[in-house]
Amino acid sequence: MDGIQAFDPDLEKLPTDSYIGGRRVIGKGSEIAVQRPSDGHIAARFAGADAGTVDEAVESGWQAFRTSDWAHGEPRRRGAVLRRWADLVERHTEELARLESLSSSRVIAETRIRDVAITAELIRFYGECADKIEGQVLPTRDDVFSLTMREPYGVVGAIAPWNVPMVLATAKVAPALAAGNAVVLKPSELTPFTALRLAELAIDAGLPAGLFNVVVGYGQEAGSPLVRHPKIGVVSFTGSTATGKAVMIDAANSGLKPVSLELGGKSPQLVFADIPDLDQVAATIASGVSRNAGQLCYCGSRLVVERKIADQLLDKVLALLWDAKPGPTWDLATTLAPIISARQTDRIADILHRTRQAGDDVLLGGGREQTEKGAFFQPTVVRSKAGSPVVEEEVFGPVLAVQTFDDVEEGLAMADHSIYGLAGAVHTSDINKALMAARRIEAGMIWVNTYGRSLDVGSPFGGYKQSGFGKDFGAIALEKYLKSKSVWIQLRQ
Ligand code: NAD
Repeated sequence: MDGIQAFDPDLEKLPTDSYIGGRRVIGKGSEIAVQRPSDGHIAARFAGADAGTVDEAVESGWQAFRTSDWAHGEPRRRGAVLRRWADLVERHTEELARLESLSSSRVIAETRIRDVAITAELIRFYGECADKIEGQVLPTRDDVFSLTMREPYGVVGAIAPWNVPMVLATAKVAPALAAGNAVVLKPSELTPFTALRLAELAIDAGLPAGLFNVVVGYGQEAGSPLVRHPKIGVVSFTGSTATGKAVMIDAANSGLKPVSLELGGKSPQLVFADIPDLDQVAATIASGVSRNAGQLCYCGSRLVVERKIADQLLDKVLALLWDAKPGPTWDLATTLAPIISARQTDRIADILHRTRQAGDDVLLGGGREQTEKGAFFQPTVVRSKAGSPVVEEEVFGPVLAVQTFDDVEEGLAMADHSIYGLAGAVHTSDINKALMAARRIEAGMIWVNTYGRSLDVGSPFGGYKQSGFGKDFGAIALEKYLKSKSVWIQLRQ
C-alpha cells in the first residue's frame, strides 16, 4: 500500500446484532457476514433479524410512542434531544467515519469530512424544525371554526441502502423523530455498523428507549416483515427501483400504508459547446461518474455532449479517469473506491458485456481491476447508441455512457430518460439554455454548471418517474411523517 493508512480496520470495535428498546438483541434469522469491500475480509458475523425480531422492534416503538412524552409532550423538548444527539454525533466523528468506511465503499477522506458532518446537520436541522410544525386555521363562515392538526403516524418503518448508509438512514430517522414518531430502521445488511452506533448515541443524548430501533437483517427476512407489520404507520424506503416496487406491493397488501420511495437513477450531464472552461467541466464529469465508484443514486452516468466539443472534452475526461487510484477505503490516497461486493462487479461486467454485444465502443476500462484485493472495477467510458444497455440500465459502477448531439432540441431530448428521473445537470454559459434544460429535463433535481450537492441539508432530494416519489432532506421531508386532521367546530349562536 503506497498511500497513508488513515486507520487500521482490524482494530475497530464493531457493533453487531439489532438494537431494540435501548439494548442489543440477538436475532433468529440467517447469519449475516459483513464483508469489507476493500479487501474481502469478513469483519463481523452475527445472526440477522427475522420477523420475530422485527415484531419486537415495532412493539417497542409502539410502546415508546404511546407511553413516553415524545409525541405528546412539549415539541421543544424533542428538538433539544435531537440537537444534543447532533452534538454527540459530531463528537464521535472519527469513530463513525471509520465504521462507515470499513464496511462500505465510502472512502475515509469523505466520511470524515462529509458524511458525519451531513449526518449531524440533518439531525440538527430537524431538531430545529420539531417545534415549528404547524396546523392551519381555515377561512370559513363566522359560525364555524375550522382547523387542521398535524399528527405523527406512530411507528415509521425506514429501510436504507448500503451506498451512503449513515446519511441516507438519518435523512429518514431524523425527520420522522422530529415529527413525533418512533422509528424502526432496517439498514442494509451489508453496512449495519453506523446505524447501530447512531441509535446508541441517540439514547445517550436522552432519546427515550424504544423510539429508535435498528433491525439488521436481510430484505426478505426483516425488510418485508417490517413493511407488512400491522403497527407500522408509514414506510420510507431508499433502494433500487425493483425493491421499491416490492415494498409498495407489500405496503398495499398490508393495510394500504403510505410509502415514499427514493430509487435508482440514470442521470445525464448535458454539456453545450459554449462552456467557458473545458477543464473544469471535464473534472465535474469525471468526479460525477467516479465518486464512490459510481455507486451513487445520482451518479452522472450519461454524458450528453454537443458534437463540436465532444472529442476535446472526452480526451480530458479519459485522462482524469485513467489517473483514478483504486485502493482501500481507509487509505487517504484512494480516489477509486471499491465496489460493494463481487456480486455487484459481476453485474457491472454483465451490463458491459451486453453493451459490447450491442456494438458500442468501449473507450476506457471495461473490466474488473485485477491489481487489488477486494472488489474493484475500472473507470469505464463507452461511446453509446440510444437503446444500448449502458444507456438504459442503472449500472451502479464507474461507467460513463457518452452520446453526442448537434442542436439544442436533440440534446434536451437525449438528456431525458425513458424510465428514470432522479437528477440531471446542464453545463452552459447561456442562461436561456440553462433554464430551458432545468424546465424540460424530467427529473427531481437539476444542477446548473455543477454536479451533486454541497453539505446543505435544506434542499429536497428525490426523483421523478421510476426514480421514486416523496422527498428526503429539507423541511418538506417532515410531511411524509405527519398526518393531517381536519377539525370542524360549529360555534353556538
Ligand atoms: P436494494 O433495493 O437491494 O436494497 C435496499 C434496502 O432494501 C436494503 O436494506 C435491503 O435489505 C432492503 N430490501 C431488499 N429486499 C427487500 C424487500 N423485499 N422488502 C423490504 N426491504 C427489502 O438496494 P441497494 O442495492 O441496497 O442500493 C442500491 C440502490 O439504491 C440503487 O438502485 C440506488 O440508485 C438506490 N439508491 C437511491 C437513492 C435515492 O435517494 N434515490 C439513494 C441511494 C441509493
